[in-house]
Amino acid sequence: MNVYDSERIEKILSLQGCCRVENPRDAKLVILNTCTVREKARHKVLSLLGTIRPLKERDPDLLIAVSGCVAQQEGKRLHQLAPFLDIVFGPDQIERLPEFIKVAKERMKVTETGFSDEEQLSLKPLLLVKGKQNRATAFITIATGCDKKCTFCIVPHVRGVEKCRSTEEIIDECKTLLEFGVKEIILVGQTVNAYKYDRTRFSDLLKMVNDLNGLERLRFMTSHPIDMSDDIISCYGNLEHLCEALHLPVQSGSNSVLKRMLRRYNREEYVEIINKVRERLPNISITTDIIVGFPGETDEEFEESISLLNEIRFDGTYSFVYSPRPGLPSTRIPDPITESRKEERLLRYQAIQNDILLQTNSEYAGKTFDVLVEGPSDTDPRVMNGRTRSNKLVHFPGDPALAGGLIAVKMTKAFSSYLRGEIAK
Ligand code: SAH
Repeated sequence: MNVYDSERIEKILSLQGCCRVENPRDAKLVILNTCTVREKARHKVLSLLGTIRPLKERDPDLLIAVSGCVAQQEGKRLHQLAPFLDIVFGPDQIERLPEFIKVAKERMKVTETGFSDEEQLSLKPLLLVKGKQNRATAFITIATGCDKKCTFCIVPHVRGVEKCRSTEEIIDECKTLLEFGVKEIILVGQTVNAYKYDRTRFSDLLKMVNDLNGLERLRFMTSHPIDMSDDIISCYGNLEHLCEALHLPVQSGSNSVLKRMLRRYNREEYVEIINKVRERLPNISITTDIIVGFPGETDEEFEESISLLNEIRFDGTYSFVYSPRPGLPSTRIPDPITESRKEERLLRYQAIQNDILLQTNSEYAGKTFDVLVEGPSDTDPRVMNGRTRSNKLVHFPGDPALAGGLIAVKMTKAFSSYLRGEIAK
């Protein structure tokens, strides 16, 4: 969602005649778009601000802004923490950025963290930024905010209540992106599969996007298990462009922990969803999120997460140690487990996940898959990054001009986090 928000900020600024520079030292405006889902992400922002401060000392006309969830959470306090900051604005205020810049240029501090009082979400499609057309993938926000009350999660507090965007606006934006050569659309929402607008359900929207001209691949994230209804499940295998991948955060394999988290499903119901999806597509890749060391998590409860990992054999887990967020109900649950014990659990979970991945990825070796090329890898410009429909990362030698296109790649070697391949002859 932050990727989408950052792109939107960039589009708004490009309509004002601004362009992106690679080096912050060349910038007239620096914006940090931030996340506060874990304390570590918030810390990063504060330390990054410290590294930007000398730029402001060198050039007092440089404007510095913080947007996103840290801005929303901290508001005015950020100006106290970093007095050289000019603009603090929340996710619902992005459209007003040009206004904020004008005020800041007059050397006045801006803090805008209100939520919009519109019932529906409207994000008018904006022109694409020049020079970014030959990218493969585009995120499209279809809903913002969250009405769930998971006891550990700060998202509803910094993103507000759930709001859906009109189907028409979403389809319009998809069409514009496809005309610009985008091949893959990822529909984004905090609980993307709860989307509903008038009589359009999420499964209806998937069908509509699937049928657009030029689309090769369709994905969505992130789904909540309680909204994973049968009509959505039956899109798998039925919609040609819907990829064989599902990211479905489970958070824990233990029913008692799920209860304390207020997730509103149990392990058996989660497994049933996965079974239904796999009945339709046996090779679908299933990924998840796990929180390790949720307050009061006993050894036995943690073992339930390990046993779920072994039962489902996830194709990947975003796993993290629980991070207490201020004011949330989970912070009031007694928690005798030490941080180092939690770290050990996390490492154990990740080691088992990596072993599983090495095995499952090995099944790709020797076979050829269509890969959507993202572009050169960070470490070697001669090596391209791409993804299979199942969302496996592939590295293969190739020309940067391949970026944005589909190509058949034969997998030569499997690692736990990626596949190595070569362009198929
Ligand atoms: N609605 C999104 C939430 C985004 S947060 C979703 O359900 O995926 C993404 C992930 O961050 C969550 O799935 C959860 O695993 C993790 N997370 C959220 N709050 C956390 C916390 N307090 N500590 C550790 N991980 C957390």
